[in-house]
Amino acid sequence: MKYVSTRGLSEPRDFTQTVLEGMARDGGLLIPESVPDFSGQLDGLKELSYQDLAKQLFYPFVDGELDNTTLNQLVDRSYQHFTHKSITPLRFFEPVAILELFHGPTLAFKDIALQFLGNLFENLLNSKGVRLNIVGATSGDTGSAAIHGVRGKAGITIFMLHPKGKISPIQEKQMTTVLDDNVVNIAIEGTFDDAQRIVKALFNDLAFKDQHALGAVNSINWVRVMAQIVYYFYAAFQFQKKFPSHPVVFSVPTGNFGDIYAGYVARKMGLPIEKLIMATNENDILYRVMTTGQYKIQEVRSTISPSMDIQISSNFERFLFDLVHHEAEDVRTLMEQLGSNGEFALSQQQLVDVQRIFHPARINTEQTLRTIARYHQKGYTIDPHTAVGIAAAEQSPFERVICLATAHPAKFNEAVIRATGKVPEIPALLAGILDKPSRCTNSKQDLQQVKSIITEKLSAQ
Ligand SMILES: *Cc1c(COP(=O)(O)O)cnc(C)c1O
Repeated sequence: MKYVSTRGLSEPRDFTQTVLEGMARDGGLLIPESVPDFSGQLDGLKELSYQDLAKQLFYPFVDGELDNTTLNQLVDRSYQHFTHKSITPLRFFEPVAILELFHGPTLAFKDIALQFLGNLFENLLNSKGVRLNIVGATSGDTGSAAIHGVRGKAGITIFMLHPKGKISPIQEKQMTTVLDDNVVNIAIEGTFDDAQRIVKALFNDLAFKDQHALGAVNSINWVRVMAQIVYYFYAAFQFQKKFPSHPVVFSVPTGNFGDIYAGYVARKMGLPIEKLIMATNENDILYRVMTTGQYKIQEVRSTISPSMDIQISSNFERFLFDLVHHEAEDVRTLMEQLGSNGEFALSQQQLVDVQRIFHPARINTEQTLRTIARYHQKGYTIDPHTAVGIAAAEQSPFERVICLATAHPAKFNEAVIRATGKVPEIPALLAGILDKPSRCTNSKQDLQQVKSIITEKLSAQ
């Protein structure tokens, strides 16, 4: 299978290149030329375990570049550290069903893709005999999931920058208590944006980047989407066993549009999804484009669901490519308008096409807190991101909705305490984490100092 750029100006890539390069060379995102159609095979997939379902769904995307035995082992290894045997269990409430995606090592749904991506990186790098040094900046969730995805892996070192003292103590410890030799945490004086600026400067220094084989694990890697397709199938099958004649609707708390885009791809692959509820917090650029057709960047606001505090939703470009019927030139035009004016507009027909698939909703802080409190009274504690999706489902016209629970409540305990007055139960994985030994290198907000931290570490290998 070939992967093409949404902007149409770079050569098609194979699967291995797509994984290792992450982004297309023309600045676009890589997507499969066409998606496999599973609509005639759904019955044969319904009884499979999560891991076996993942293998079947991945084969056509990998297209023989890894033999099936190797791929099977990578999948099995990726989910062995999940603490629930179903990997992503579905729990039925009235009127919603909740899909728990937080049973991985860092208690957030990003583990599902990043555990697999780490194993895949290791395999591809070793068979090519090359190294990769991952550099990233994080405000919390992504950094810890990425670190846990590559810890101890041969051929990979990860340098993760975070703003010193500006992320929650639990999130900081989830990163800095990983003591594997290939993990380097760097605490930068300043804000997340300052850390992000240093990472961008490192990537823009092409000589430094090439010399040190720097790579990224950002959310635009196709494999992250591919791995997330699985739980849409898995959950839909379980839902249909209980409600055979009921349409399948998902509600997805959305930031970068990666998670919900995976649901959209599952639908294209023949899974009968009636609607995808696209739930945002007060950072509502996607809500606005799906209701008015105007995609317009505004200031990012800090909310109690910080992993959705995003203004540019990178993965939306992948969906746009379909919306303009694969005319890459039209994607380029829209992205140029976004770059120069900070906005673009969809046509009336495109807006109709969007709304056929997505049901947009915007949920504010008060609604989020009320939803956490209400579920707490029912005896089930949810995190603020999950609450945004549930609130969106409950105010939608759909009778029964599968709501994605994207993080464990203990990870965002401040919001939970605010809503319920109670401290959420700490899962075993986090117990005692604040007292565990940790390792972190401090750095001034200084590109040169970060460069020497990287150079020193790599020359010692
Ligand atoms: C990343 C994240 C989201 C948003 O997912 P996208 O793929 O960026 O839309 C929602 N909830 C949590 C807990 C996250 O970490």
